[in-house]
Amino acid sequence: MPMKHYFISLFIGCSLLTTVVHAQPVALNKQLQPIVIQGALPVESERMAAKLSHAKVETVAGWTFWKGSYQGYPVIISKTRMGMSNSAAATAIAIERYQPIAIINQGTSGGHDPQLKVYDIVLGAYSTNISAFKTPNKALGEGSNALQWTQAFDVLPEDEFDPEPIAQRKFAGDQGLLVAAHQVKPNYRKGRVVEGTIGSADTWNNELDRIAFFHKTYNTSVEEMEAASVAQIASQYKVPFLGIRILSNNITNGGAYDAGTGEACQDFALDVAVEYMKSKSAALR
Ligand code: SAH
Repeated sequence: MPMKHYFISLFIGCSLLTTVVHAQPVALNKQLQPIVIQGALPVESERMAAKLSHAKVETVAGWTFWKGSYQGYPVIISKTRMGMSNSAAATAIAIERYQPIAIINQGTSGGHDPQLKVYDIVLGAYSTNISAFKTPNKALGEGSNALQWTQAFDVLPEDEFDPEPIAQRKFAGDQGLLVAAHQVKPNYRKGRVVEGTIGSADTWNNELDRIAFFHKTYNTSVEEMEAASVAQIASQYKVPFLGIRILSNNITNGGAYDAGTGEACQDFALDVAVEYMKSKSAALR
């Protein structure tokens, strides 16, 4: 073959190859940083991990991360373990190690809103810490009444020189993630999907007056033990965050605990993640 023709064929060959590579979502999506989806317990994380392709397990101290892809998009599933400290640490580790494009904290929760039923899903327009207070003064023997704890304590004040940072701090859910969640809402058929406020604490509240207090003064839809803590860390790293919580129980209306909710929420969260990554991937083009 004359040299000129050789180069022409080579050029055509390369162009075809480029076209083929561009048509493959996997190759394109490799440019995106991964999205992290967290679940505290095995029932809130392992179903998602099992759905990843090419998953590699990475363990850092007590925390497990499954790194792989889902529908061609890079996804990391993180088992944070329960509670505020565990989930904060898992979040900081994930951000430092994987530089995620966004973080979704999802899982089960207890209803504070009597209108919400087991299997309904709350998108955290806000997440807030419901265990940070400055209590009233009481002398020895005067007892303790949590219903009188009306001063919230802000652990992340803008001015740390302020000696009494008394305020309810609410972390707003990321708009892009909320849009993606609303987009996939019609795919979820086990209950309603609504926006609301997620209240987090290392406490499982079973006192109806206490729950009513939170619902009234913090406008909480549900309570659980991780979302606000993750939001607090993600906000300092400026990583987009959304809490997505399914009601596994709701003692305000007799909603009995249902373990199947953990799986349903994982499926919904994966759906949201794909929709979000799709929009991010389109923006790269
Ligand atoms: N399988 C357990 C529930 C899990 S324990 C049971 O026997 O009921 C606590 C975990 O579930 C936490 O990670 C928390 O985020 C979530 N959770 C579910 N419902 C909750 C509630 N009513 N209050 C606090 N946390 C709740």
